[in-house]
Amino acid sequence: MSDTSADDFRTAARAAAELVSDYLDALPGRPVWQPMDPAARQALLTAPLPAEGLPLTGLLEVIGTQVMPAPMGNGNPRFFGWVNSAPAPAGVLATLAASAMNPSSAGGDHADVHLERAVVRWIAELVGFPHPAGGGILTSGTSMATILCLAAARNRAARRAGRDVRQDGLAGMPPLIAYATGETHSCVRKAVELLGLGSRHLRTVATDSDGRLDVTALATAVAEDRAAGLLPFLVVASAGTVGTGAVDAFEPIADLCAAEQLWLHVDGAYGAFGVLDASIAGQYAGMDRADSLALDPHKWLGVPVDCGCALVRDTEELRGTFSLVPSYLRDEAAGALGWFSEYGMEQTRPFRSLKVWATIAHRGRDGIAADIARCTALARRLGELVEADPELELLAPVRTSIVAFRYKPAGADENVVNAINKELPVEVQLRGRVFVTGALLDGREMLRACLLNAATTEADLELLLAEVRAAGAELTERRGGR
Ligand SMILES: *Cc1c(COP(=O)(O)O)cnc(C)c1O
Repeated sequence: MSDTSADDFRTAARAAAELVSDYLDALPGRPVWQPMDPAARQALLTAPLPAEGLPLTGLLEVIGTQVMPAPMGNGNPRFFGWVNSAPAPAGVLATLAASAMNPSSAGGDHADVHLERAVVRWIAELVGFPHPAGGGILTSGTSMATILCLAAARNRAARRAGRDVRQDGLAGMPPLIAYATGETHSCVRKAVELLGLGSRHLRTVATDSDGRLDVTALATAVAEDRAAGLLPFLVVASAGTVGTGAVDAFEPIADLCAAEQLWLHVDGAYGAFGVLDASIAGQYAGMDRADSLALDPHKWLGVPVDCGCALVRDTEELRGTFSLVPSYLRDEAAGALGWFSEYGMEQTRPFRSLKVWATIAHRGRDGIAADIARCTALARRLGELVEADPELELLAPVRTSIVAFRYKPAGADENVVNAINKELPVEVQLRGRVFVTGALLDGREMLRACLLNAATTEADLELLLAEVRAAGAELTERRGGR
């Protein structure tokens, strides 16, 4: 802050508060997303390294005119793309304070460290996951949380086979085998590859017609691998798949994992918080039996990016995987739980917990549960609207807050339908009124709308479908009729 006086900062901070408030106010009235103006894009890409500095208020001018006019779109209530939420205002405010404090939340006796212990416990309580003291850590997202959990699973399995992976690596061991489905998020395969397990040893287990892991097929695959002398060690189940929002049947999966001594990891990145809605909570039964659960406060909770979370049943498995502090040298002043840097990859760690704290504290458990329930109700309503529309087809039951559907005018040829639906998302996006993305489901191109924003209205849902129909008709016409 050498060239910045306290007064300069105060003046600029007030201006920043106005800028950000104006931005958030104006969002719902703007196009959800637009391609960037080529000149504006080029200006950002080719911005020269400045030799001389700008005053703080000059920075705000650039931010306000060159950056904030071109958002991704996810702050808008008519954004239904991927799994990207609008930022919780409380989290936005907290971000400023967190960066002003700028600690490293690796460990020590300062507020951020203790607050992280508390919010990890809150997250576990929200989703009903057991929480031994220290049983979790905030991460950049679920991709990183998955690496942490799967590393702990791998090390436990190897230890049981008489191997210390940290010291000896995996070479020479029979392959460790993991099980997931075709609906499982790609971060699981990335973690498997990175951890040296080999994606060849990640089995794709069949799913039922609802996209849920087929437990009978899982049991068969495990038995076959054991008979072949391999070492089954891990099952990854999903609490809300990205494609259709399906929730796996955790009870029978957990039974099998208990009988076979397999680590059960649940990917709840998007959907774990759905358990807060009493009307769909039943399908989450048994999620609390997992050995680890990865989830993303930066999705359904709206905590500003980035914030994921790894929850583990056996704290020592995680600490034993990452700690480089021999037990006899542990810093007693840090308490029995030690440092967060003993539970994951990051040493210097950002103050993520303040935005999580603010987001949860502002809404309270009941407010959050109401927001989640609103999203699932909106999703079911959207499903009904799709089903009532002769030009649209619902492709999966609405289980959480994702609606998988496609544009399918009567009598259209299946290949044409696929071709149109492949182009539809971008066509809809370019119109600027709503934003939706696509995916492949069993070889079929589809649209998937993800409801994460409690400010979305039923009129927004109707607009989404009207836009899909209009863009679909336009694409059909461009192809020269049906
Ligand atoms: C988003 C998502 C992930 C990846 O999480 P990141 O926070 O993007 O790293 C994994 N699984 C599911 C189901 C997701 O929705």
